Amino acid sequence: MSDSLKETLYKIKELKIDFLRLQFVDILGIPKNVEIPVKRAEVALYEGVGFDGSSIEGFVRIEESDMKLFPDVSTFMVLPWEEERKVARMICDVKKPNGELFEGCPRTNLKRCLEKLSERRWTLKVGTEAEFFILRYSEGKIVTSDKGSYFDLLPLDTEEGLRRDMVIALEKLGLNIEAAHHEVGHSQHEIDFEYGDALSIADNIITLKIAVKTLALRRGYIATFMPKPFFGVAGSGMHTHLSLFEEEKNLFYDPQSPDGLSKIARGFIAGLLQHARAYTAITNPLVNSYKRLVPGYEAPVYIAWAEKNRSPLVRVPPQRGKGTRAELRNPDPACNPYLAFSVILAAGMDGVDRELDPGKPLNNVNLYQVNDKEREEWGIDFLPSSLEEALKFLEEDEVIKNALTPHILDYYLKAKREEWKEYKNTVHPWEIERYLELY
Ligand code: GLU
Ligand code: MG
Ligand code: MG
Repeated sequence: MSDSLKETLYKIKELKIDFLRLQFVDILGIPKNVEIPVKRAEVALYEGVGFDGSSIEGFVRIEESDMKLFPDVSTFMVLPWEEERKVARMICDVKKPNGELFEGCPRTNLKRCLEKLSERRWTLKVGTEAEFFILRYSEGKIVTSDKGSYFDLLPLDTEEGLRRDMVIALEKLGLNIEAAHHEVGHSQHEIDFEYGDALSIADNIITLKIAVKTLALRRGYIATFMPKPFFGVAGSGMHTHLSLFEEEKNLFYDPQSPDGLSKIARGFIAGLLQHARAYTAITNPLVNSYKRLVPGYEAPVYIAWAEKNRSPLVRVPPQRGKGTRAELRNPDPACNPYLAFSVILAAGMDGVDRELDPGKPLNNVNLYQVNDKEREEWGIDFLPSSLEEALKFLEEDEVIKNALTPHILDYYLKAKREEWKEYKNTVHPWEIERYLELY
């Protein structure tokens, strides 16, 4: 047994852990887990734990359903909200019965993409800003629970205590929290944690969602990362800050260039712009995601980049040196972060490899106020306006498709086309309200 496995078993004993939760995500990014009593720990670490893959969204058919979970011991964390029993979780990789890595596992997909990058000795650093709403039930309806807005405090930010408890729990789960605050929408919040390697950030996003939802539920609230729960108010984004490193060196920084951006940074940004319409199908995965991507709510609509402006798809924040980075503003927190980072990386690296250039940044232009003629003159395209449109762009983009295994891509396209079809054919409350009495 490897040292790290031995050390983990020792830690499990020392900490008097009662139960272990073996966690992973399905193709849509929904967290799943199986809980085992601690006496099974050694077997789990050595041999993996079997489960029925055919019951997990997008995994396998019934004939080949004996899958196995192998815990990544570096993700061992004690769950701080389990008070009666000591429960720890480990995030797992999924393997097939023959011991090979499973092509349908999103975490393995991202690892594969990052391994390709590491052949150049490069790493992808990611920082995210996930927003969410804390709502409550009232007379059978889900409603906002406060009247707060950006950076408000009491008496408006009534859930500040709950949000602080979330921060405390997340710190115990290994996330280094940088800031937490009320967001623009009533009952909308944001908790930011330190940037890091793409894989651990993807793990951390799942941890954040689980912790936020669990603590909200325990206090009788419902926390949601749905991108646009309410018409006419801000939606929830997951702005994603990106940079490439070679060891400690930020490859996006070039002190010799007038704007401090390297050729690699420019190529990466150009790639992000060029493939935006295709990877949006992954970074903005729901029918509802496209209701957030409308003008006026700090969410992007147009495919452009800028340094001093928050309306385009890519913003370059002013920091230089180690903090040089591009902020991609379309992802929303409903995305599967493992798949999202896989396709974002592929888009950027295609720009780097083909030495593309993003042109001049659109500083000092509020794109929400630009008319169609100007937009056309400047050659600025729109992001897709619906899931259906985004899926069509995805199908046409070989670079983005290649960032996903055929298993994941096929399942994703099938599931999302079904989702769109069901939405399209459903009669929504808006239609009843608008048409039923009038016609
Ligand atoms: N809520 C905005 C969005 O949907 C982002 C607001 C912000 O800049 O923090 O992207
Ligand atoms: Mg925000
Ligand atoms: Mg931001």
